[in-house]
Amino acid sequence: MTVQLPLEKSDLAPTAETGSGISAILPDLAFRRMSIVNVIFYGEPATDAGWVLIDTGLSTSRQAIIEAAERRFGRTRPPSAILMTHGHFDHAGSLEALAQHWDVPVYAHRMEFPYLNGQASYPPADPLVGGGAMALLSPLYPRSPVDVGQWLQPLPQDGSVPFMPGWTWLHTPGHAPGHVSFWRAADRCLIAGDAIVTTGQESIYEVMTQRPEMHGPPRYLTPDWDAAQRSVLELAALEPEVIITGHGPPVRGANMRARLHQLADNFREIAVPAGRPYALDPAKPGKRGNDTYR
Ligand SMILES: [Zn+2]
Ligand SMILES: [Zn+2]
Repeated sequence: MTVQLPLEKSDLAPTAETGSGISAILPDLAFRRMSIVNVIFYGEPATDAGWVLIDTGLSTSRQAIIEAAERRFGRTRPPSAILMTHGHFDHAGSLEALAQHWDVPVYAHRMEFPYLNGQASYPPADPLVGGGAMALLSPLYPRSPVDVGQWLQPLPQDGSVPFMPGWTWLHTPGHAPGHVSFWRAADRCLIAGDAIVTTGQESIYEVMTQRPEMHGPPRYLTPDWDAAQRSVLELAALEPEVIITGHGPPVRGANMRARLHQLADNFREIAVPAGRPYALDPAKPGKRGNDTYR
């Protein structure tokens, strides 16, 4: 029996629909759900200040992201940069196309670089832990590694986030070696990528219903469960007020935080698939092709 941590309606962050499928969580933070994955827009639409795209959805999401961006920020305002929480195919699917379209820098943690500059593919998804989302998305598995090498920049050493004043990036590995989360202390706002998610991803039923729950990283692509737990403990210790994750609705408030601590403190029982941890060989830099996804 898997332990689950359901979230109530009152745990969902209120959002305002602003057109083109975009939901605003805060005046300067909005997202659009692309099929099963969220892409995030940071920046105030009404000002001349720049804006930033965080993650890029599936390979089929390119046009919808451009349309949503133009709707929110105007036709003549490309983003200042694209930031990546990590490089999995459901977050980096439209990355090459968008980097080309806007010709802007792409920031990521150095440990994700091999997966973003064409050097390596991720280890294979673990089929034994339930791959609902993976099965659903199998036609979209990448055929070759992502390569945005010419636009790729490391996140600054000092923890600051380019074009996002007041934010810091946190290294939250486990689900991916260079996975990062973004944190704004002033209003305790957290962009958590897939370090935690707020809906189950392991069965097609869960993916279709998107029932809100506090959930560890998607199981099928998480190679390092010890690191994943340390990351969740670190995020819980921040006591976030609002969280938007890579999958599922944005959440907020005290009951949500209680569930997050439950997840962090009982991570092995709740998040880690039975019979694990398993350790996959990290993908080798230098390896080309992408047999692992076939
Ligand atoms: Zn992921
Ligand atoms: Zn994901």
